[in-house]
Amino acid sequence: MTPGVRSSLAAAWLFGAAICVNITEARGGLRAGHDQESRTTDAGDLEVLELRPNFFMIAGAGGHIGVQLGDDGVVVVDTGSAAKAGAVVAAIKKATTRPIRYVINTSADPDHVGGNDAVSKAGQSLFTSSDFLGGAASILSAEKVLARMSAPAGQTSPFPAGAWPTETFDQARKYMYLNGEGIEVLHQPAAHTDGDVLVFFRRSDVIAAGDILDTTRFPVIDVARGGTIQGEIAALNRLVELAIPSVPIVSREAGTLVIPGHGRVCDQMDVVEYRDMVTIIRDRIRDLIKAGSTLDQIKAASPARGFTRRYGSDSGPWTTSNFVEAVYRSLVQEKP
Ligand SMILES: [Zn+2]
Repeated sequence: MTPGVRSSLAAAWLFGAAICVNITEARGGLRAGHDQESRTTDAGDLEVLELRPNFFMIAGAGGHIGVQLGDDGVVVVDTGSAAKAGAVVAAIKKATTRPIRYVINTSADPDHVGGNDAVSKAGQSLFTSSDFLGGAASILSAEKVLARMSAPAGQTSPFPAGAWPTETFDQARKYMYLNGEGIEVLHQPAAHTDGDVLVFFRRSDVIAAGDILDTTRFPVIDVARGGTIQGEIAALNRLVELAIPSVPIVSREAGTLVIPGHGRVCDQMDVVEYRDMVTIIRDRIRDLIKAGSTLDQIKAASPARGFTRRYGSDSGPWTTSNFVEAVYRSLVQEKP
């Protein structure tokens, strides 16, 4: 996507109010400043970006949140962190008077599901004829997400029961038809974790990718929770297949939009670049393993070279070293 397209997206206004849209430039990963057409909202520190007439994204509440609006009500992909749930509910209510019907979770990460309890309770189930869920909006996820969010008997659950998914699935694809479009929820069984999904809004032509795609850093492969580099690359390939770029008329403001778990909104080419970057690093580490290198030797060989300035980190929760180690552990586990 060209920078011009980005800035015209950045100029999209919602709610008749001033919105801060801090979109980044298409190339180079630089955060764009607020251009003259965008404004900062005083509605908390959330950023709200209209992607389509009936689809917007909320940033600043943890992981990015996708919001589809229509006659049936609101479908929300991820709910941000618990601390920002009130502000997220307020932003949705500002956009529509219709009820929140569904929450879909892309993983069990606290910054993606932390708002589940508050957001679902602010909504209203589609199944009004019963006391199902006490009337709250449904929460849909892959089965593994419920397993991660609840707890084995005798242990304390990391989340309140009101935040747990109410509807889970274990097949590759779950679908719904709401607000005049097909919504496909595509399980990616071993990518960032074992419970990731891609959520594809077919008419809006928007895909919420969760942390399978994180343009702020190397993808977080959570090996302890079932993530693998092979599954991560498979999920990125799926994303590339689902998305369609603006061809043959590349100058048009068109093409599938991909919402990452964190970072800037992407088009197909951005996902291709990210997928290629991850694949190159995977190949380097695989070659070093084949050559008999130990993990320490592999780290010393800097297999992420060329990409660390843009995606790497020496400190914080997900360092370059963490990433290299996760790739290594995925590949070693693969051996019989
Ligand atoms: Zn995240």
